[in-house]
Amino acid sequence: MENQVLHCQGCGVKIQTENKTEIGYAPPSALDREVLICQRCFRLKHYNEIQDVSLTDDDFLKILNGIGDSDALVVKIVDIFDFNGSWLPGLHRFVGKNKVLLVGNKVDLLPKSVKNSKLIHWMKYSASQLGLKPKDVYLISAAKGEGVQELAAAIDFHREGKNVYVVGCTNVGKSTFINKIIKEFSGVTDDVITTSQFPGTTLDLIDIPLDDGTSLFDTPGIINHHQMAHFVNEKGLKMISPRKEIKPRVFQLNEGQTLYFGGLARFDYISGGRKSFTCYVSNELNIHRTKLEKADKLYEDHVGELLFPPFEEEVKEFPPLVKQEFMIREAKTDIVFHGLGWVTCNEPGAKIVAHVPKGVGVTIRQSLI
Ligand code: GDP
Repeated sequence: MENQVLHCQGCGVKIQTENKTEIGYAPPSALDREVLICQRCFRLKHYNEIQDVSLTDDDFLKILNGIGDSDALVVKIVDIFDFNGSWLPGLHRFVGKNKVLLVGNKVDLLPKSVKNSKLIHWMKYSASQLGLKPKDVYLISAAKGEGVQELAAAIDFHREGKNVYVVGCTNVGKSTFINKIIKEFSGVTDDVITTSQFPGTTLDLIDIPLDDGTSLFDTPGIINHHQMAHFVNEKGLKMISPRKEIKPRVFQLNEGQTLYFGGLARFDYISGGRKSFTCYVSNELNIHRTKLEKADKLYEDHVGELLFPPFEEEVKEFPPLVKQEFMIREAKTDIVFHGLGWVTCNEPGAKIVAHVPKGVGVTIRQSLI
């Protein structure tokens, strides 16, 4: 063990056998295994348990700075369902002169009626608004394999023989994508990189050799502390993470009506006459309509039971909802609750107040759909 540096094939960290609570621990008996993974990945894989380990923001920054210093192709993955929440705002400062391909993953979640060409156009527009000029934009479903082959070909074309860095926020499906790409490039059929519903699964730079001597690097998922995922437990995360095509839910609202998204977010329609609103959230998340004047009391009395997640046992620790006001000036405007979904205001002239747990982002944008 002293001379040889071993890495976990699940998350890429350096393996150590001394300290059980530190990152990269594996029992000495595991070292002889053909596929060596750290204890954290082992537990995640076999028991679906997550172990807390520490990797600081500084470590992430070091890795990102390294990308700017090298001549490489950057593949940036975002979750198309949580575009704003999974964006990584500072990335364009880190990539230096390198070309970026922007990839929207989880396209299978959006209604089939939405045309990919429209989504790609929207992504290009939104990227430029956010300061990034990608060389090209792709839509994929890593889970279903949709668009992966085309993207693999594009990566091979655009990298011009250079290394490739795959970057993304946690939970965008980066590991799922990398596993598919490995299959595409190498024909290996077993998943080698750990994937899970828990944010923050991939911990270190994973070097995946390409056959011409260059590498594809899977960088750690960057934790975005403003994601709704950090405010729910495992059961809650399952409820808010859509697994199937989202069925839009349309509400005709009068002024003074409120929608609760479980107990995690709230949408108050303040003024603007009777209007229609379309909600895009996980099909499993309950949307509860009530009168604005009764909304506070309803929350006080029923958060954790009628309004969930959070669940009863979590209510005490759950942060209070904070509000933000929006004036909708154009038809087809989305109010986005980061990591939860969005509400499309179909007509202009509505005054809205959005409530989320303190720390979760709410933004307004031109409608995605
Ligand atoms: P990472 O943290 O970015 O490496 O993300 P993972 O690959 O671990 O995936 C996070 C979650 O998103 C898991 O629950 C995956 O099953 C899910 N996921 C990944 N790709 C897709 C996809 O294309 N469509 C859908 N619906 N879910 C996906």
